[in-house]
Amino acid sequence: MIPKSHPRYSSLLQRHKLELGVKKGITSIQGLIAYGRGEAFDYLLGEKTTKEAKKAIKASAALLLLAKHPVLSINGNTAALAPREFAKLSKILNAPIEINLFHRTKKRVLLISKSLKKLGIKPLGIKRDFQIKGLESERGKVSSSGIGKADVVLIPLEDGDRAEKLVNLGKKTIAIDLNPLSRTSKCSTITIVDNITRALPSLIEEVKKLRRIDKAYLRKIVESFKNKKYQ
Ligand code: ATP
Ligand code: MG
Repeated sequence: MIPKSHPRYSSLLQRHKLELGVKKGITSIQGLIAYGRGEAFDYLLGEKTTKEAKKAIKASAALLLLAKHPVLSINGNTAALAPREFAKLSKILNAPIEINLFHRTKKRVLLISKSLKKLGIKPLGIKRDFQIKGLESERGKVSSSGIGKADVVLIPLEDGDRAEKLVNLGKKTIAIDLNPLSRTSKCSTITIVDNITRALPSLIEEVKKLRRIDKAYLRKIVESFKNKKYQ
């Protein structure tokens, strides 16, 4: 048990969740290294959501609410760190979740799918019938009814190769990535530089606040948002 009073409680809890993710077979070993990179940036941020991230979260909520086919892409780290929040966001947006893994194995896909089903979500990405042009990794094969036809894709903890290809396909992408220097952060339509464990609950709150607001106002929020250039 990690005592709540520990100054690094949240960070230790996240490490523990990822450790469990690996033990269950949901998260890949490489996912731990990716997490370490993110964690270092979070340390520098003081493990707090910045003002810029808050603005990006609001603009993301508006963009997701305006989308015709929003899709939420899930990988092994997200499935270990924030599965409940991801499922909740999917439900309030009525947006499907698609499993998309770089280190894809049948077993990992089934385990993630099973854990989402327990949360009332039937994910896409188990059968894949759409190829993202020029992307040879496993992430290039997606579902035509999910990422294939999506106009807005939420891509937390993304790998830069796919992010670039999605943008080239004319899709809008929302990245949640603690590393402002990653290719994902640089090429996305909106970049939320924040820990996924903080960004998702805030995003859910923003969607709840904005979902009854008229579309013209949502468009204004998106248009007036200038994604910080991290180059
Ligand atoms: P890119 O391929 O986009 O240049 P990268 O090679 O630095 O990125 P990847 O391993 O491809 O990184 O993807 C993991 C990304 O997720 C990293 O940029 C890391 O900072 C970020 N990350 C890891 N854990 C978290 C977290 N809990 N919340 C938000 N971002 C995270
Ligand atoms: Mg990468």
